[in-house]
Amino acid sequence: MNLPTTPATGPLPALLDQPPETLRAWFADRGQPALRVKQVRRWILAGRADSFDQMSDLPRELRGELARHFAALGTRVERHLVAKDDTHKLLLRLSDDRMIECVLIQEPPRRTACISTQVGCGMGCVFCASGLNGVVRNLTAGEILEQLVRLRNLTAAPDGRLSNIVVMGMGEPLANLDNLLEALEVTGHKDGLGIGARHITISTVGLPAKIRRLADLGKQYHLAVSLHAPNDLLRTRIVPTNEMTGLDEILAAADYFFEKTGRQVTYEYVLLGGLNDNPRTARELATLLQRRKAHVNLIPFNDVEGLPYVRPTPEAQATFIDTLKRAGLSVKVRKRKGSEIDAACGQLRRKVEQEPAPAAV
Ligand code: SF4
Repeated sequence: MNLPTTPATGPLPALLDQPPETLRAWFADRGQPALRVKQVRRWILAGRADSFDQMSDLPRELRGELARHFAALGTRVERHLVAKDDTHKLLLRLSDDRMIECVLIQEPPRRTACISTQVGCGMGCVFCASGLNGVVRNLTAGEILEQLVRLRNLTAAPDGRLSNIVVMGMGEPLANLDNLLEALEVTGHKDGLGIGARHITISTVGLPAKIRRLADLGKQYHLAVSLHAPNDLLRTRIVPTNEMTGLDEILAAADYFFEKTGRQVTYEYVLLGGLNDNPRTARELATLLQRRKAHVNLIPFNDVEGLPYVRPTPEAQATFIDTLKRAGLSVKVRKRKGSEIDAACGQLRRKVEQEPAPAAV
């Protein structure tokens, strides 16, 4: 990538989006040693610096030169909401003015970052606000990393670190796998955020070829497959892309992931009142997953403005859970976190995008 040698007029390129070799060349042009690359990146990734000015072990002149050419962080916080349960939601504005969401869920000792991988989403799951207007673009590796940096900077944990990452925000992570892997490679590094693959969950609606590729990496990422239905007819109603892939292919790929990594796959299931929450569907799901070493994560739907779906009744939830448990499956119900801050994926972004523009003065 060619970087400008004179200050840019538009938004400055974000430092975390620059390949190390490009930064090395930039420093070398200014008579600076290669170790500056590590030093600057470490300030952002581990040292919580969000401006070059804070990088106190760099010569003052060099800090000024860096600030004229790069943004220490290329995203801007458009909104920062904090719920009573200490869940934080950030709406970030990207350099091209698009917006994404990311969330910090704090349940001591766990501090989990939920991040996005795309602007919008092309999967079109019918219950999801993120996919309502389709996908706009993939996030860069730097934009993915910046979400983690910004969320980590909000934690007040004694060790100052995130404990887990779930890639479950806006977008289909496996549709942007290269950039995601590039970002996750950095997070695991000791000069990065210090979060190993075992603490990272990648969620997908099911892109079989990409699941297999992930399995072949030999990494210990945890895979979560968003199932939402036990048969193709119902699943295609809920996840339209299922029509092209089909459940058999997705489950075969997930089985392959388990064989290769030894890591139990989680199946996510959004319970939609009156649609996929009845006892017959629960039995069908139990039969489908029974012979697999699977964990089921049930997510009772939270109302989303403009969508016609409803939360399942407590009775329907209880029967569903009981049916799966009696079949010997490991089941968890996801707790509702940060409900008062529009914590369901994509809702805040949608709300802010629909706000009327401020009147001109
Ligand atoms: S649930 Fe996930 S995969 Fe489905 S539309 Fe929303 S963001 Fe995309």
